[in-house]
Amino acid sequence: MGYVFAAPAQPVVPVFNSTDLYPVHRIYCVGRNYEEHAKEMGFTGREPPFFFAKPADAVLIAPEGKAAELPYPGETSNLHHETELVVAIGKRGRNIPAADASRYIWGYAVGLDMTRRDLQGEMKKQGRPWEVGKGFDHSAPIGPIKPIARTGEINSGRIWLNVNGAKRQESDVGKLIWNVNETIEHLSKYFELAPGDLIFTGTPEGVAAVQRGDLMQGGVDGVGSLTVRVV
Ligand code: MN
Repeated sequence: MGYVFAAPAQPVVPVFNSTDLYPVHRIYCVGRNYEEHAKEMGFTGREPPFFFAKPADAVLIAPEGKAAELPYPGETSNLHHETELVVAIGKRGRNIPAADASRYIWGYAVGLDMTRRDLQGEMKKQGRPWEVGKGFDHSAPIGPIKPIARTGEINSGRIWLNVNGAKRQESDVGKLIWNVNETIEHLSKYFELAPGDLIFTGTPEGVAAVQRGDLMQGGVDGVGSLTVRVV
């Protein structure tokens, strides 16, 4: 017995300052997890966290100090950046209490939850799934993963994004409505978390469109940075 065609390549994210690779299992994302971003999207208040997902092979590797190329996707004229702290899970578990959550974290990275905002908006209006707005090819650019053994727990730190050198997003991870540990608690009620799961924890305010040729540079203090050019 064998595969009927070559098995797809395992999506991976490089580990910072290492030749090691982190194999990706799933990509989960948290919606509206900073108050000022929830407001700019027309919402207020603290609602329970909600989740969506992207395919594991939506990762676009963005090595530190080198621009990755993001092909401008089809069927949109409003491609938005969302800069996010990404948590990389290293241990299997479900119904994980927030107080234990840090034991399940392998490391952290900076990611971009790229969004076809026009398609997402249309799907919201029609009560339809978000996949076409969120889960497209290359929709998850990500920098190298830094092990928690090096960073310690990340509960604060500046999160930022510049486009062509001009500031677009700037906030602090300490302003997450649901912090990393609480996010893991909620998410692990719905899904058994596994090594290789990436959690995009939500974006702060300042989301906006990018065009072909734009250079996005973002980071989270204590975690790292990434550079992505839209082509
Ligand atoms: Mn997002």
